Amino acid sequence: MAEIRLEKVLKLFGKVRAVDGVSLTIKDHEFMVLLGPSGCGKTTLLRCLAGLELPDAGKIYIGDRDVTDWEPRRRNLAMVFQSYAVFPHLTVFDNIAFGLKMQKRPKSEIETRVKQAATMLEVEPYLERHPAQLSGGQRQRVAVARALVMNAQVLLMDEPLSNLDALLRIQMRAELKRLLQEVQATTVYVTHDQVEALSMGDRIAVMRSGRIVQVDEPMKVYSEPEDIFVGGFIGNPPMNFLKGKVEQNGAGPVINIEGQHLPAPPALSHMVGQPVTLGIRAENVQTLNTPQDGAIPARVLVVEPLGSHLLLTMQVGDQSLKVTTPTDFPAQTDDRLWLQPDYGKARWLDPESGSALLMDGGEARRAS
Ligand code: ATP
Repeated sequence: MAEIRLEKVLKLFGKVRAVDGVSLTIKDHEFMVLLGPSGCGKTTLLRCLAGLELPDAGKIYIGDRDVTDWEPRRRNLAMVFQSYAVFPHLTVFDNIAFGLKMQKRPKSEIETRVKQAATMLEVEPYLERHPAQLSGGQRQRVAVARALVMNAQVLLMDEPLSNLDALLRIQMRAELKRLLQEVQATTVYVTHDQVEALSMGDRIAVMRSGRIVQVDEPMKVYSEPEDIFVGGFIGNPPMNFLKGKVEQNGAGPVINIEGQHLPAPPALSHMVGQPVTLGIRAENVQTLNTPQDGAIPARVLVVEPLGSHLLLTMQVGDQSLKVTTPTDFPAQTDDRLWLQPDYGKARWLDPESGSALLMDGGEARRAS
């Protein structure tokens, strides 16, 4: 049983709060991705977990044990780092066997386990070669094999694919995902690549400035971001955010966006007079050539054909947003079109704090 529990972990570097009171539970066998922009504290948090950094406050548990002060080697974990750090003077076999030899395992056991790991990662034909005689992807697989061979309960990975070229990265991403499902270790995987996080994680913990801002399953993080930062960081293109104001119009509330009055959910009726931000993904906006009730008039700024679809940058008053259309949609720069957001898939946010409005008992309210 290797559930990992972090309780209010704090790590300071001088005045920098690299990890700022993080609490997080990672379930046994779960694949948790730590995602966030450069400098948000992902690596530092992983290093605290590994025992390579000592937190200034807080507790770390692996299983039932408080390992906060334990040396790395007592923690029963294996690590793969960004610079895949295979030893150039050792053969592939000796690289993979390295940890087992340090543990003084019997020779026959080392042989069996190395072969198993090498087969799993498809590097068995190269066991006698040196790393210089391998491609980048093969070297990366050796680094992963060296970690997997330890049969550790916990696997920590810090941007393990970032040194690979784009195509190999996509291939390795799927391979790693399959492999990690097989080995069933509890895995913590650091990346700043949101596509990697979405495609691989059981859950994603999104970090910003040393803190976790949202922990959820990938599609939930994508569709229901907790705030403007998360919606703007995840997805390509990022979520669109349009500023407006709640107004009363006869029976119910409407949103005034750049002078256009759009239907608003009844939950916003007690926010009349207040500013609100509509968050909507590009694929959740229908683009029309003719006006329609509730559709927003917009001007085409840029048309980008992206193979499977068109990406249009549209101007609505002083604001802009991106929408996708089928490739045969007739759109030219400066065309006037109408946008019909699917309000069922919209997020309503507080423009001041950036946080999503909470929909409690049919009433929207600001998060405290
Ligand atoms: P990246 O994706 O660029 O690797 P990250 O999210 O992993 O970034 P960290 O490497 O954990 O971020 O760094 C978090 C903060 O702590 C940054 O402001 C960084 O400059 C600072 N920091 C990290 N290590 C040290 C150190 N050894 N000494 C001083 N400051 C550090």
